[in-house]
Amino acid sequence: MFNSLISSIKRWHNKPKAEKGANANSPAGNGRPPKPDSNKPSGTTKTSRVVVPRSDHCLSRRDVSRAALTVMKRLQEAGFEAYIVGGGVRDLLLGGHPKDFDVATDATPEQAKQLFRGARIVGRRFRILHARIGREVIEVTTFRGHHSDGEAHEAQQSEHGMLLRDNVYGDLESDAVRRDFTVNALYYTTDGFEIHDYTGGIRDIEQRQIRMIGDPETRYKEDPVRMLRAVRFAAKLDFEIEPATAAPLKELAPLLRNIAPARLFDEVLKLLMCGQGERTFELLREHHLWPHLFPDNARHLDSPEALALTRQALRNTDDRIRNDQRVTPAFLYAALLWPAVNAEQQFLTEKGIPPVPALAQAAQKITSNQLIHTAIPKRFSMPMRDIWEMQSRLPRRGGERAFRLMEHPKFRAAYDFLLLREDSGEIPAGLGQWWTEFQQADEQQRQQMVRDVPRNGARGSKSRGRRNRGGRNRNRSKRPNGGAEHPSN
Ligand code: ATP
Ligand code: MG
Repeated sequence: MFNSLISSIKRWHNKPKAEKGANANSPAGNGRPPKPDSNKPSGTTKTSRVVVPRSDHCLSRRDVSRAALTVMKRLQEAGFEAYIVGGGVRDLLLGGHPKDFDVATDATPEQAKQLFRGARIVGRRFRILHARIGREVIEVTTFRGHHSDGEAHEAQQSEHGMLLRDNVYGDLESDAVRRDFTVNALYYTTDGFEIHDYTGGIRDIEQRQIRMIGDPETRYKEDPVRMLRAVRFAAKLDFEIEPATAAPLKELAPLLRNIAPARLFDEVLKLLMCGQGERTFELLREHHLWPHLFPDNARHLDSPEALALTRQALRNTDDRIRNDQRVTPAFLYAALLWPAVNAEQQFLTEKGIPPVPALAQAAQKITSNQLIHTAIPKRFSMPMRDIWEMQSRLPRRGGERAFRLMEHPKFRAAYDFLLLREDSGEIPAGLGQWWTEFQQADEQQRQQMVRDVPRNGARGSKSRGRRNRGGRNRNRSKRPNGGAEHPSN
């Protein structure tokens, strides 16, 4: 589908101007983006509209969710314009499956609200309408305008150039240039089935480029989260970040400090828990953004074990998402912060604090540090700390302990985490294999395994022997969960 679309668009671009559809004001096939005009406020990039007619693209109404079609239809019947925009158009053009559809319209949120029973206007900085159709929620945004056209209370900027409010309304063209990247500013309408492109988005899809609309530095300053979005889309789509779009990232990365931790937590989930976590992590490091999200992880990455643990945790998460298995931020956060927690615990035990309280203190310190950067809701931070705490209990298996541990609601996650630590080389392999066998054994074998555990509670001689014979991969194939180290709860 991708190839046919691109070739048809190319064919269309290459036609002489006169042959193109009546709506085409200018060709977009000149290979260059519309240049940002530095004298104008950001987002007022000069545009040249390209309208790709129905016959020249393969995006079909059938690819769009029924709910999004209903929203568009209702808006159009009420006399408004309505377009699918953003990821919906972008991902369909690339042959993918959009995770949702966003609708852009010239109706104000209040006008649109009248058309959908139970719809809600959400957001302050950026007001949008959530229209519920069946079980789907469609985000309906009103075309944004240029700030110079609005009242002070509708658009507000901080002293650093950050947009505090962005509620000046405009038309399709002004909306297009206020979006972040050219590939996110393509509009598809069922009223004529055309794609509207004001910013060179189609060319950038063909050339697989993430390109900021307007002056990248200004646009990042308006909303520093756009830096994360550039990386996210590059990783997700396997696109390059165009050089001018990538250039300011290193210098502006500290602006992430000004973003509310709760918003950054949401962004982190989109970055690391959407199936491309490992690739995204590498790109975030490359562009110097990672230390501003996870400083305590970043300062340990010189250690090969910490780097291996981080990569492995992300890779496992990606694999699980691919296999439709559940993933939880608790496990991923546990892994990302573990090298720092572990180092801090060692530091405290060297000062004479016993290991268990040392771990609790270390966990407390590193968690509070992280909260300054990205929030961690309690429902994730509690299990995260359970996973850590159980690492010191898993070696102690004598008597009834192993049986009790297995009953713990976070046992499975803690066991997966132990395997992750072994795989990364942080601790020698062995204990994980013991637990793997223990879970697979029947009651009698379990009793025997527990009796065989040496008094000092460390590793059973049995698992040591197995480890030497089998090596890591052999262990992995025998794991009860098939080797996917991740929590199931
Ligand atoms: P996906 O939903 O697949 O993650 P998306 O491109 O649809 O990707 P959303 O976060 O759903 O991303 O946003 C929808 C659209 O809104 C984007 O495509 C973009 O046009 C615009 N947008 C979102 N966030 C910003 C931002 N911070 N600055 C400018 N435009 C934005
Ligand atoms: Mg979207």
